Amino acid sequence: MLPEKIALIGVPWDQKGSYLQGPALAPNRIREALHCGSANYWTELNVNPIESENFEDWGDLTINKYTDIEKNFALILNKGVRTISLGGDHSIAYPIIKAHAQFRGEFDVLQIDAHGDLYDNFEGDKFSHACPFARVMEQKLVSRLIQVGIRAINPHQREQMEKFGVETIEMHQFDAGQRPTFDKPLYISLDLDGLDPAYAPGVSHHEPGGLTTREVLRMIQSIDVPIIGADIVEYNPHKDVSDMTAMLAAKLLKEIAGKMMGKVSV
Ligand code: MN
Ligand code: MN
Repeated sequence: MLPEKIALIGVPWDQKGSYLQGPALAPNRIREALHCGSANYWTELNVNPIESENFEDWGDLTINKYTDIEKNFALILNKGVRTISLGGDHSIAYPIIKAHAQFRGEFDVLQIDAHGDLYDNFEGDKFSHACPFARVMEQKLVSRLIQVGIRAINPHQREQMEKFGVETIEMHQFDAGQRPTFDKPLYISLDLDGLDPAYAPGVSHHEPGGLTTREVLRMIQSIDVPIIGADIVEYNPHKDVSDMTAMLAAKLLKEIAGKMMGKVSV
């Protein structure tokens, strides 16, 4: 049985991005979009997670160095909550998943992303936002890693996929009808650049040809296993247009939170 309570955790961190900074500003921008009054708090599936007594915003972490992320998440999970993290570059997924591996049984990860994030190292940094899932897989922290929306990989990353047994649904395969299936509790790691830049311009790495908002919503809404936690990463307000990506992140947060409230045991 998973904790009923969900804590929203801002992760203001962008020191491991390889190209631009900005995701450190994401948590508050997404909160502002969520609470701006332009939309109500109900999900499409008729849940109101944000105003539920089981949902609390715990504010932002204080992070001085990368290793603080795992320490903080271990302290938070130890309090008997599930977490949804907002903001940060994708490097935060490794320490967060590592903390989950201490507190939860076996689980799978769904990574929505344009990129594999499987580099052994990126420009010498093993903890770059291009590497988190190499670290997760080499330490066997999860049962399965299922990637969706991938459309920017190179031969090195293909070797890594093979080596680690990653289940990748590349964008052209998704387009041809392949869909992920899950059989264990699930952690969702949602890199907003998995969506097409037409839907999510507010990211550092524009990779055309991506998922639509509707496709991501349908994927979230069709999950029928318990969700142990989630992150929404790589929002870069400097690249956004009329806050549309902040609104998208807020909507995805709402839909994921609603879904998390639905099922707490297998
Ligand atoms: Mn990523
Ligand atoms: Mn990405």
